[in-house]
Amino acid sequence: GMTDRYCVFGNPIAHSKSPDIHAAFAAQTGQALTYERRLAPIDGFAAAVHAFIAEGGKGANVTVPFKLEAFRLANALTVRAQAAGAVNTLLFDGHGITGDNTDGAGLVNDITVNAGVPIAGRRVLLLGAGGAARGAVLPILEHRPATLVIANRTLATAEALAQQFAQLGGAGAGSCRIAACGFAAIEGEFDIVINATSASLQAELPPIPTSVFHPGTLALDMMYGKEPTVFLQFAASHGAATRDGLGMLVEQAAEAFHGWRGVRPETAAVLQQFRT
Ligand code: NDP
Repeated sequence: GMTDRYCVFGNPIAHSKSPDIHAAFAAQTGQALTYERRLAPIDGFAAAVHAFIAEGGKGANVTVPFKLEAFRLANALTVRAQAAGAVNTLLFDGHGITGDNTDGAGLVNDITVNAGVPIAGRRVLLLGAGGAARGAVLPILEHRPATLVIANRTLATAEALAQQFAQLGGAGAGSCRIAACGFAAIEGEFDIVINATSASLQAELPPIPTSVFHPGTLALDMMYGKEPTVFLQFAASHGAATRDGLGMLVEQAAEAFHGWRGVRPETAAVLQQFRT
């Protein structure tokens, strides 16, 4: 039959790296597939998805601003998509539309495997409580950190997020202390500090105490670009090791690819290729 088709929906979409990442995965694993960019109209996401399914599409990634709409469109959800309240990966399998969220798994794989920094037993600080932060909480808790502090500009959103997972207990919250606070109220040192705010987009810095960093801290900004973000510059100036969001991007793609194809690509070479 036909070569299996995949795509990424977003608006804008022109600068998405996903087609190049998936093309690299397909070449490496010998999978026959195509993966294209699809600009969905702001008010036409569902129609764009249904059109792609009608054309024989097997799956899709979803990026800004459609992750919440994808969550509502799916008629089945993975546990991690349910926990995130957002969907970045769709699977079309003849039974309907399954929604998954691979962003959080991508983040923790990048930290624990690529950076080689364990989360288990560590103190983790998550800055932000938007979609990207929400997707990260369950995968972080599954690694059983000692503490997870969620700090956000809008305190109520951080509190609601901590509350959602404090009640979850069994999925990994177990012995982990989960707390929420505003940026200025953060206390103590952390081993891993994750910037899941979009502040870096405006070259802004979440106003956190410098005392969160110690020489062994890993600071990760979900954003990526040619230059280190102001957050990564700030973290480095206080002795932290730094990492941008490119590894997370490649890892979330690998997790989606695995869900679609049942084959797990090697990410190291692909990440290296996109760094240069
Ligand atoms: P959302 O819009 O859902 O959330 C934005 C978050 O940032 C909120 O917590 C918001 O706080 C906070 N925020 C916004 N502006 C500021 C500011 N000036 N100072 C402090 N806090 C601020 O965005 P997403 O969660 O979808 O995305 C967050 C970031 O993660 C983006 O930079 C995005 O590019 C990146 N990302 C990277 C991925 C990757 O694969 N590498 C995947 C997904 C996202 P408040 O609640 O107070 O408004």
